[in-house]
Amino acid sequence: MTRVYNFSAGPACLPEWVLKKAQEEMLDAHGSGMSVMEMSHRSSEFQEILDTCKARLRRLMNIPDDYEILFCQGGGTMQFSMVPLNLLKHSADIINTGQWTKKAIMEHKKLGKTQVIASSAEDNFTHIPKIKQEDLTPDSDYVYICENNTIYGTKYKELPPHEGKLLVADLSSCILSERTDVSKYDLIFAGAQKNMGPAGVTVVIIKKDLIGHAKENIPSLLDYKTYADNDSMYNTPPCYAIYMVGLVLQWLEEEIGGLEEMEKLTRKRASLLYDYIDQSKLYSNPVAKEDRSYTNIPFVTGDAELDKKFVKEANEAGLVNLKGHRTVGGMRASLYNAMPMEGVYALIDFMKKFEKENL
Ligand code: PMP
Repeated sequence: MTRVYNFSAGPACLPEWVLKKAQEEMLDAHGSGMSVMEMSHRSSEFQEILDTCKARLRRLMNIPDDYEILFCQGGGTMQFSMVPLNLLKHSADIINTGQWTKKAIMEHKKLGKTQVIASSAEDNFTHIPKIKQEDLTPDSDYVYICENNTIYGTKYKELPPHEGKLLVADLSSCILSERTDVSKYDLIFAGAQKNMGPAGVTVVIIKKDLIGHAKENIPSLLDYKTYADNDSMYNTPPCYAIYMVGLVLQWLEEEIGGLEEMEKLTRKRASLLYDYIDQSKLYSNPVAKEDRSYTNIPFVTGDAELDKKFVKEANEAGLVNLKGHRTVGGMRASLYNAMPMEGVYALIDFMKKFEKENL
């Protein structure tokens, strides 16, 4: 068996510890004589899996008691609609930082008044636009941001001002990579398939008093209250994905030692790669230094043909999924929690070799 170093932006690599544990429990999970995939979601075994998963997430992220944790389906993309359906009363202020806010803006506009209060589109999304309190719309209900921009490799290091407004944030590609002060947000959502588990489940962390105010006559599954009232089991939840998220959280708690430790690893992985890129004569990263992502690192050689060659040869060397997003080209290394430090060293060694051969 040869495992590759997988730099995919998502679905992404998972910790081997988690995959092995899932393998061990495949035929007989928790003494049930069956796999989690075959279990009734109404069984006591699955209820325990769900309860443990929620409790671990609450402990790890230090989620205050006045926040609810919900497990939804439909990916991050369904949240682009669920957020306005549940929170937009007057209008929404959105900061446009790329593809994932553009899609949120598109869905918001179908459902209510929406202002794009700042955008880095003109600079090809290579920085995070800074806003002031005065830039907010007087009647807006919330400020919406994508905290880490998976495609462009930017990240908010400081949250925007939002006095008197709610703050909604898409943390799909940075959740659990560092400590997060949940109390600074009103709603956080994240698809699992980057840093939490496989695709199929989306975690929503929402202030309890925001639940129960959705627009009238919306489908039950688009109302956060349906999830909150039914412990995320109004209908069949994505049982196996929730189980896998639970294993990832167990790994983070017991093997890594929590988010403070993971934050150190996240910073180290990123600075190793940025330091190398910054001194290289071949590669460059276009992002403003203060806004650089710790988890998604795009880079280019400046020559599209050479980029193609890089991706091909890296792939042959067991460093896979380094192609940049189809909308930006070049390369992108996603360094999520499950990427071992050896993977980063292997990538840098390969980059050095390629630079020598092609400069
Ligand atoms: N938000 C961000 C930051 C993302 O990176 C992605 C997917 N790459 C999405 C939202 C959309 O998620 P999904 O495909 O789960 O709907």
